[in-house]
Amino acid sequence: MGFRDECGVVGIYGADNAATLTYYGLVALQHRGQESAGIAVSDTTLKAADGNTDGKINLHKGMGLVSDVFKKEHLEQLKGSIAVGHVRYATAGGRTIENAQPFLNTYKFGSIALAHNGQLVNHTELRSLLEDSGSTFSSSSDSEVILKLIVREFIEKGGKPGHSLNENYAENKKLFEEAIVETARQIKGSFALCIMTQNSLIAIRDPNGIRPLCIGKINNGYILASESCAIDAVNGTIIRDIAPGEIVFIDKDGLRSVSYAEIKKQTCIFEYVYFARPDSEIDGIPVQEARYRMGEVLARESKIAADVVIGVPDSGIGAAIGYARASGIPYVTGIVKNKYIGRTFIAPTQAEREAMVFVKLNAIANDLRNKRVVVIDDSIVRGTTSRRLVQILRRAGAKEVHFRVSSPPVKFPCHLGIDTPSKGELISSTHELEEIRKEIGADSLAFISLEGMLEALEMCGDKASCGFCKGCFCGEYPV
Ligand code: SF4
Repeated sequence: MGFRDECGVVGIYGADNAATLTYYGLVALQHRGQESAGIAVSDTTLKAADGNTDGKINLHKGMGLVSDVFKKEHLEQLKGSIAVGHVRYATAGGRTIENAQPFLNTYKFGSIALAHNGQLVNHTELRSLLEDSGSTFSSSSDSEVILKLIVREFIEKGGKPGHSLNENYAENKKLFEEAIVETARQIKGSFALCIMTQNSLIAIRDPNGIRPLCIGKINNGYILASESCAIDAVNGTIIRDIAPGEIVFIDKDGLRSVSYAEIKKQTCIFEYVYFARPDSEIDGIPVQEARYRMGEVLARESKIAADVVIGVPDSGIGAAIGYARASGIPYVTGIVKNKYIGRTFIAPTQAEREAMVFVKLNAIANDLRNKRVVVIDDSIVRGTTSRRLVQILRRAGAKEVHFRVSSPPVKFPCHLGIDTPSKGELISSTHELEEIRKEIGADSLAFISLEGMLEALEMCGDKASCGFCKGCFCGEYPV
């Protein structure tokens, strides 16, 4: 797969060890971003009776995996019961520490930290407007634009200065929530946001629900996370997904939900194919179940006589199991992945990146020797990985290699938070099916149809849970 995951976000409210829980949540979401990680924690005492903002927000972030960035001493220093955390793979903005998240801003009326998964399509215009009215930026990230916009809206609405919100708590709280709603209406694109002040946690999902975000209960508090696997990782209880176009405010008064926009659900379909973990459930659809179903439909659409079915780890495995079930061809492991190679493993040239496939994947020759093999992968992007994969299988003695793909041909780049090659680099954009087959060296090649993929997803959830962005297959985007 040549697509790169976007980001993962976590938010905690009302737990004594918020930083540690956020850390565990981020580790569970590590697959969504390996370039940087960060956690912001408020040390405000939530037990105070008033709308306390006596504490401050502390932040630690750095480049690398969660376990590289956070050592024991960092977590010990981040004391408090409200937190937001972020893992990042760069989309908008460069790969530098300045663009690592969460972003934290401290103003005369308090502090705000923000963690964003997604990509704004109107951030250039908004940034320019904000700069014209005096805002300054410390990064090139679209996410910082959201933070500055909230602040500007709050000030324009008459938010009262003072070191904390204490002095004007009720009035400031109302104005701050209005500023959040107004900001959510102005930003366009994909966004799943965890925002915190010194005494509250806020979740926002864009009106199309392009990126996932869910909420769970943890002891007496709450957890927000990009995927439900992060709620499981902290032994929380999943409550529900944040709905598209919904804002959830959590503070000492409890949890309040606001719908701020007309909803047209179009969740990224690639979450189910590739990005999300198989043990997550997004908008009522269990991810691994979706992959089984895609494999079943693929078998129906492009069955072929073969001896074994194998799946390319990790995300091709679910579809391979589904294909095997529906076709009656036995599933075998066939191929293993080196778990210790991160997705950002350094290979500076294209040739080296291609050669990396040999380091990353290897065949189990005993499963494949003299066999007709159906190999299922989640997608073909540039085609280079697929070509290497076919070589690996042939080298291991496969008699025939039949390549099956559990997503339709990717013909268009993504502008909504996924790093994709340009249109000219997408092999399905420039080549016909038979040309791709020859290019990758397979004996046969077939992709699932778009209709088949939608049918597979509809089998897993109710109608209300369906509605997907299919931009990279058909070039039509929700925004
Ligand atoms: S264009 Fe493709 S990768 Fe991007 S959000 Fe839509 S479905 Fe997902």
